[in-house]
Amino acid sequence: MASLSDEISSRRTFAIISHPDAGKTTLTEKLLLYTGSIQTAGSVKGKSSAKHAVSDWMDIEKERGISVTSSVLQFTYNGACVNILDTPGHQDFSEDTYRTLMAADAAVMVIDGAKGVEAQTKKLFKVCTLRHIPIFTFVNKLDHEARDPFELMEEIENVLGINTYPMNWPIGSGRNFRGVFDRQTRRVIAFEGDGHANATKKVAEVEAELGDPSMDELIGEENHKNLMDDIELLDGAGDELDLDAVACGKLSPAFFGSALTNFGVEPFLKEFLRLAPTPRAYTNTLANEPVDPCRDDFSGFVFKIQANMDKNHRDRIAFVRICSGKFERGMDAFHVQGNRKLKLATGTSMMADDRAIVDEAYAGDIVGLFDPGIFSIGDTVCSGKRHVQYPQIPTFAPEMFARITQVDTLKRKQFVKGMEELAQEGAIQIFRELGAGMESVIVGVVGVLQFEVLERRLKAEYRVEVRRQPLPYTDIRWIQNDPDTIDIPSLSLTRDTLRVEDMRGGKLLLFTSPWNVDWATDHNPDLILSEFGNVT
Ligand code: GDP
Repeated sequence: MASLSDEISSRRTFAIISHPDAGKTTLTEKLLLYTGSIQTAGSVKGKSSAKHAVSDWMDIEKERGISVTSSVLQFTYNGACVNILDTPGHQDFSEDTYRTLMAADAAVMVIDGAKGVEAQTKKLFKVCTLRHIPIFTFVNKLDHEARDPFELMEEIENVLGINTYPMNWPIGSGRNFRGVFDRQTRRVIAFEGDGHANATKKVAEVEAELGDPSMDELIGEENHKNLMDDIELLDGAGDELDLDAVACGKLSPAFFGSALTNFGVEPFLKEFLRLAPTPRAYTNTLANEPVDPCRDDFSGFVFKIQANMDKNHRDRIAFVRICSGKFERGMDAFHVQGNRKLKLATGTSMMADDRAIVDEAYAGDIVGLFDPGIFSIGDTVCSGKRHVQYPQIPTFAPEMFARITQVDTLKRKQFVKGMEELAQEGAIQIFRELGAGMESVIVGVVGVLQFEVLERRLKAEYRVEVRRQPLPYTDIRWIQNDPDTIDIPSLSLTRDTLRVEDMRGGKLLLFTSPWNVDWATDHNPDLILSEFGNVT
């Protein structure tokens, strides 16, 4: 039987990020197909299938063909146990993606070869850099006309501020796509598709060495010459693949390929698994020291809560990233924030669309715990005598605000319960005007679709109708001063600035423009403002 540390060191846990339509789903699916985890294409996300329409609010997914919720996929390959944390591509749900990244040890950034770095990639990338996790780049859709690879690398470096190390190099693109040159083996892997290959068909790979006359035949004389020039340039740059720089997210190994035609997916997976980190040590804030993932005691934190997946059961699943030790179904554990013991009664892992009960899991894995309504995002669970506590997950700045009021004032209880539970789940952020009650609540979201999900869920799950009044705030800042040393009501602020409080009692200000933020800091020299809440 494998030892605890063998089990843990075989884990590779990562998230895939991309701008919508860059090919994240296709790449995920190809990884699963390739490793034999699924048999047919179209099982992941299933944009057009009704299979995952398990509750009302997911109808929004169906109607718009977008993925709202993250799922966790696990498969084994070459002795590695791989966990892919899928993330919603739609920007309105990027907060969910942010949290998922907190549970990942590495990220794969998928970029459309024709479009380069897009808005959403930029945003998600910023979060990756906050965590200093390794970032791998997959430049996709080379079977379509793509931009010049040097130009793409330069754009990644300039726009995202990360250096890239091409692991392979494309030969042409679109109709002229002939394959990739693997810089390590110094061989060409030729692409023999017509650009419209069946999505599940594997394109033939023929290997040949650079400079060999047979290459002229394989990829064409001109391509061969261009490739030799390109490689000379790349090699001339002289950079080695600096693994330390990769480990802290300063250098991104980049791969070129075409997920749809299954080209370059296998070499990518192999290299990725070789270079990707084993489960990292998260910090125990109680002792301010890292927790060894291989220690015997189990511990983990909640990074995502998904409620009411099945309307008949009103169940709630708390997804826990295991940070140390081994999880066993039914084990006794301690919920740190709730300061109480509990039995981790149910564990589930997500395999594509099916939820399967898991009996055991290890550091690096994700388990879904049955949640009777006690967990909040960021909570720690642990076993053993010595308790640990993991850092809270930062709250990211909402970009849109509305005042939500219940229509039927008799339903106040359900309204408050619904708003609080949905905020606990992280579906929205709620704020209370300082000095006001809960009859109306200010809701902050990253994207307008979150408002729609909120309204539908309140109606379907809590039987509450609400009115939404858009608010003009655009900029939000948490007050970081010690609460005892600052008198918030007497701050000197522009008239349209609002003083509010978040769910955890944090005090903050809502502004209608960046100009007003500057005004506040100019007129209150001691005021310390931060764009993120709860950063520890
Ligand atoms: P996501 O939104 O990032 O998950 O993107 P999808 O994987 O759903 O892909 C978006 C569209 O791009 C789909 O129509 C895919 O078939 C297509 N696509 C994905 N990868 C490739 C590729 O390598 N080549 C081409 N030509 N199309 C691709």
